[in-house]
Amino acid sequence: MASTLAPETAATPTAPATGLLGTYKRAPALFVSGCGCELVDDAGKVYIDFCAGIATNALGYADPGLAATITQSLASGLIHLSNLYRNAPGEALANWLVERSFASNVFFSNSGAEANEGAFKFARKWARSFGPVEKCEIISVRGAFHGRLGMTLAATDRAQYRTPFLPLAGGISIAERDLDDLAATMDPDRVAAVIVEPIQGEGGVRPMPREFLEGLRALCTERRVALIFDEIQCGLGRTGHFFAYEWAGVVPDMVTLAKPLAGGLPMGAILVSAPIAATIAPGDHGTTYGGGPLVASAAQYVLGRLSDPAMLAHVREVGAWLGDELRAIGARTGALREVRGTGFMWGIDTHEPAAAVVGRAFSGGLLLVGAGEHTIRVIPPLVADREVLSRGLARLEAALTAG
Ligand SMILES: *Cc1c(COP(=O)(O)O)cnc(C)c1O
Repeated sequence: MASTLAPETAATPTAPATGLLGTYKRAPALFVSGCGCELVDDAGKVYIDFCAGIATNALGYADPGLAATITQSLASGLIHLSNLYRNAPGEALANWLVERSFASNVFFSNSGAEANEGAFKFARKWARSFGPVEKCEIISVRGAFHGRLGMTLAATDRAQYRTPFLPLAGGISIAERDLDDLAATMDPDRVAAVIVEPIQGEGGVRPMPREFLEGLRALCTERRVALIFDEIQCGLGRTGHFFAYEWAGVVPDMVTLAKPLAGGLPMGAILVSAPIAATIAPGDHGTTYGGGPLVASAAQYVLGRLSDPAMLAHVREVGAWLGDELRAIGARTGALREVRGTGFMWGIDTHEPAAAVVGRAFSGGLLLVGAGEHTIRVIPPLVADREVLSRGLARLEAALTAG
């Protein structure tokens, strides 16, 4: 394993030690406010945000509608109700997602990893409803990131995240991103599910080729294996399509969502197709907070905004322009090896270690996040317009040429 750089090792200047456990190498800025696509630190310095809380703050900062929705929701007095009881915002949100997708039912979690863990459990329950008890294996692919919990860490392809915590959960393996390879190894009596990010995020912003996703769909259908799309980073508008599976033109059996879902309040979701949902019974899964009234109200508002055709058209149009601008910066500076992506999800491969560029950009007032040793993600809020993006791109170009 060559890389010693976590994606979070963003900025080179580092913050002083605090009481927080040292799981992150934090940048030193202490942000005190934000508006639109900009954050302000305690010294009054303004940063343009091309990180968006790692693709979470899709509406940027200080969105008045989101704030009003949360305030209204609080006025009911209900922040949390147990999942032992009905709650109107949670039901409305689930119905909305069902209406808008292939799914028949939705499970709400509190994070992305938790959504994927749940999807693995649902896949196993479904697979064993018609297959042998051995039909339980979950396959992920090279470069995948699905989270850092028990099963999701086993499905995540990064030695640095895995090695200190061996042994990992069993029954989970990582395959090559290769259809022939998958066809040769996917035993229908053993495999319950394949999970894939339509566009890998942490793994370096890698869009999966359409033929790969189509071939995988056909293979999974043929072998009665559930196909799970992890859209936690690439879904909910980031491709310029509401779901990443709509961008891909391939319908999976389950989709997991999180990051932007509730506008920065912690929330995840699993969209479940009817055949899988039919095998799930009370007691099979649960979570204390999942889908409570406050987060569900926020998510209803966020999804309304992110599914707006005008918003999606904005992401497609401005995103294509953003890609062109990044390629132009690459041509002018000679500092980039490759520019990949779509919509508001771009990866730029640097000759230099990504962390060095991210650090200089930070000093120059631009927030970026790496994705591996030589890739930087450009994942601004989806509301970013050409004006703020242009200013950020100028700072990016300055950071690339200063090296
Ligand atoms: C961030 C991310 C996760 C994990 O989400 P958490 O909320 O941090 O648990 C899983 N999959 C993908 C693709 C992600 O980007």
